[in-house]
Amino acid sequence: MQIYAIPVLDDNYVWIIEGDNRQCAVVDLGEAEPVIAAIASRGLVPQAILLTHHHWDHTAGIQAFLSRYPVPVIGPATEAQTWVTDPKRDGDAFTVAGVGDFRVLTSPGHTLGHIVFLTEGAAFTGDTLFSAGCGRLFEGTAAQMLHSLDRIATLPDDTLIYCGHEYTADSLRFAQHAEPDNPAIRARVAEVAKVRQDGRPTVPTTLALEKKTNPFLRIREPGLREAVIHYASASSITDEEAFGIVRRWKDDFDGLKPL
Ligand SMILES: [Zn+2]
Repeated sequence: MQIYAIPVLDDNYVWIIEGDNRQCAVVDLGEAEPVIAAIASRGLVPQAILLTHHHWDHTAGIQAFLSRYPVPVIGPATEAQTWVTDPKRDGDAFTVAGVGDFRVLTSPGHTLGHIVFLTEGAAFTGDTLFSAGCGRLFEGTAAQMLHSLDRIATLPDDTLIYCGHEYTADSLRFAQHAEPDNPAIRARVAEVAKVRQDGRPTVPTTLALEKKTNPFLRIREPGLREAVIHYASASSITDEEAFGIVRRWKDDFDGLKPL
């Protein structure tokens, strides 16, 4: 199995998963043309679209893609029904012929029906887990997102994380602001600057690296927890509260309006 990133729109990634004999699956489809061009130039035969959630920057290319390649759209059972032909729920397993075996993990938070696809040491996390960040809480609650990330965190540490956006450099600015003394974040900032300078994607990342550098996987770490308590001027907080505060803290840091 080989996996490539196709950059689309401003900062989205479409992932092409190539199996044996040039069969492939495509994860999310914010834009069709660059993906069709990559598939045609490699002589690939698409077997399925895997869709993580309903947002337009993951779906806007589906119609054009299907008119060229009429394949099933495997996606969340509870959203994006305009597109999804093969709805999947938590724990569902399925095979894409010639590509591989997949398992579905539901991950509500960014949207309520969001799903993550797992296969052969890889997790396609859409807008749930980013490198050094996580999706904004457009539909779900902090408690739901924390639970979703906690489940992803139980995967093996060497799991490769393929996410839906190139947000790493921006996300690391907040990570470093929240944990200025974390040497793993400092090292990752330097690495990411170089990778971006070379015009390469900063993903996939590994779950092990995310556990060391991603504030949304680190809310139970004493140093970050103390910083969160200080930011919120609270005396003690639950894990769910800590997660919600980190999410708001990052939105404030990024200058985004509270939801
Ligand atoms: Zn989204």
